[in-house]
Amino acid sequence: MKFPRALVAGLGLALALSVTACGDAEKTADKEAGQAAGAGSLIGVTMPTKSSERWIADGNNVKAALEKLGYKVDLQYAENDIPTQVNQIENQITKGAKLLIVASIDGTAITTQLQQAADKKIPVIAYDRLIRNSPNVDYYATFDNYKVGVQQATSLLVGLGLKKEDGSDGTATGPFNIELFAGSPDDNNATFFFNGAMATLKPYIDKGTLVVKSGQVDFKTVAILRWDPATAQKRMEDIITKTYVGGTKVQGVLSPYDGLSIGILSALKSSGYGTAGQAYPIVTGQDAEKASVKSIIAGEQYATIYKDTRKLADVTVKMSDAVLKGGKPETNNTKDYDNGNKVVPSYLLEPVIVYKTNYKSVLIDSGYYTENDVK
Ligand code: BGC
Repeated sequence: MKFPRALVAGLGLALALSVTACGDAEKTADKEAGQAAGAGSLIGVTMPTKSSERWIADGNNVKAALEKLGYKVDLQYAENDIPTQVNQIENQITKGAKLLIVASIDGTAITTQLQQAADKKIPVIAYDRLIRNSPNVDYYATFDNYKVGVQQATSLLVGLGLKKEDGSDGTATGPFNIELFAGSPDDNNATFFFNGAMATLKPYIDKGTLVVKSGQVDFKTVAILRWDPATAQKRMEDIITKTYVGGTKVQGVLSPYDGLSIGILSALKSSGYGTAGQAYPIVTGQDAEKASVKSIIAGEQYATIYKDTRKLADVTVKMSDAVLKGGKPETNNTKDYDNGNKVVPSYLLEPVIVYKTNYKSVLIDSGYYTENDVK
């Protein structure tokens, strides 16, 4: 039981303070019990990397919202280096953090640190990525990751003309050559994205409407460690060289993240795609990062998935505040996110497909970006 941990911690501190307080000890204890882990407490926030815009926005949004509630925030980025993130979490525990918010690099690599946190009754919230194999994860705030995968595959089908944006069937018949990419195998989300996408593409692959020409279809083969754009670029180059010979062209690429999409598009560009005579294949994405939105507007990348990081920050901060005050945060999913040790109570937000046709209403009208941001 985790949030009672916060309560216990709060009561412990309240007791300590009431002993030193002179006079109205009882009143002080009551007051401190309500506030001990509240305003002024330190919260440790660890994010994976600054190499992707989304995590910068996530970190800034979480920090600002926590500070608005009066918390102190230690926000750290680890540039996708696992030992660095491990050290950052250890430091936050040592510095007296009262709660940890963790967007992990490797969801299985911080079990020891979470045990240290549990020993000190520090609650832990997994941010966007589930932390695996540990009982010491109290809550999880994320998007519906399976649905993200479904939407990525749907945008691929729409781009190929097999579906329409409204979900109805398109008029194209194929067959189309496609290639598949997945995210980092140590990120729990990557499997959810891939499973959602493959469930959507499978009927078309089974019918022969979609052909994965390289034959590379299993998650392990198509996964890109640490979501590294250069690795994706290299894999796309290798596939083009080996598979797309003698005039055969790739017509669609399932890419799970905008950074990878950009690497994939560069590989395609250097092989002669993206010209008047040879259009780019349909390339999907995720995160609606500015460079990819620009690319969509320019007709290069086909689509992306928008996940409003402002909402994720908001949900996470509300969860944190509730936990620290000894309450029970709101969750809306208590079945899908089994971390190998327990099902972590989660709050899932809704992702949205972004095409050239709707980027204005989705991204600009919502105030996520200004027109200038994506010019
Ligand atoms: C996030 C995605 C992101 C990816 C790479 C995943 O865990 O859910 O939004 O594209 O990491 O940073």
